[in-house]
Amino acid sequence: MSLPKTPQGWAIRLTQILSLHKAVHGLPRFPIDVAGLAQDFSRQVFPDAPITMVGGLDLSKGIEGMLMPNPDGSGEWGIIYNETVRSPGRRNFTLAHELGHYLLHRQLHPQGLQCTNRNMADWDEARNKIEAEANTFASYLLMPLDDFREQIKGRIVDIDVMTKLADRYAVSLTAAILKWMTITDKRAMIVVGKEGFIDWAWSSEPLLKSGIFYRARQIVTELPAASLAAQEVVWDTGRHGVEHPAGVWLGNEPVREMTVFSPGNEMSISLLLYPDQAPSRWEMAELEEEATVDAFDKFMGASGR
Ligand SMILES: [Zn+2]
Repeated sequence: MSLPKTPQGWAIRLTQILSLHKAVHGLPRFPIDVAGLAQDFSRQVFPDAPITMVGGLDLSKGIEGMLMPNPDGSGEWGIIYNETVRSPGRRNFTLAHELGHYLLHRQLHPQGLQCTNRNMADWDEARNKIEAEANTFASYLLMPLDDFREQIKGRIVDIDVMTKLADRYAVSLTAAILKWMTITDKRAMIVVGKEGFIDWAWSSEPLLKSGIFYRARQIVTELPAASLAAQEVVWDTGRHGVEHPAGVWLGNEPVREMTVFSPGNEMSISLLLYPDQAPSRWEMAELEEEATVDAFDKFMGASGR
């Protein structure tokens, strides 16, 4: 049997093997045990280059995980997560990401690869090919499309739904939201905030098409002052979310924001839902005109007194 060449191809191959194995042994399909899978599969298919080490190491801050050849030159490999990261979901996603590098990139990178926290959100192949490929692999392996679609069918997606999915697949909340972003026809955005600024953001395709997205990560943008993310609201308020009027978030539209904070509040994850229909050009012109008239009235009112 020939070996797959694409991230999706590899994920589908492993999913088939796993599904068969789990059906035979009557095991639940999810979550996927990446550690066991990586070792068993690599030993059988690549006996000269098996993965013999899966686990955590105390890596430097900002490094999420790595693919590492055994320094003894035996040809063995290790897939590692940063053990200072406590979230089991993030650890599991990282292991799947590193397994993706092992399957797809180890020949081109015999010295191994180190992946940062931000690399785990690099889902855009045009920007960072190998990181996006590793993420695509991890996403398809841990959250197969058929099951993912089944889980969200007929449901209004919110932070609670996404949290349940993150638990089901043992992935981070961010990974579950990003997965949904890649398949939804909704106009949505995920915004990750750090210390009052936007660390990175990602718009779904339909939102991107209406021109609403934050530019390159190099540009420093503050979280909007009126957003839940900037106000560090309590957990329940943030999770439940609010309907903001136009003008709080990017684009002149009302936005539903739901935000959760990591323990210690060092990071916020916001899910923004825009109206299904983008305003037409005519409506946009109207809105702008209204704003101008408003400003004019205020000016006249103020100067008339
Ligand atoms: Zn990577």
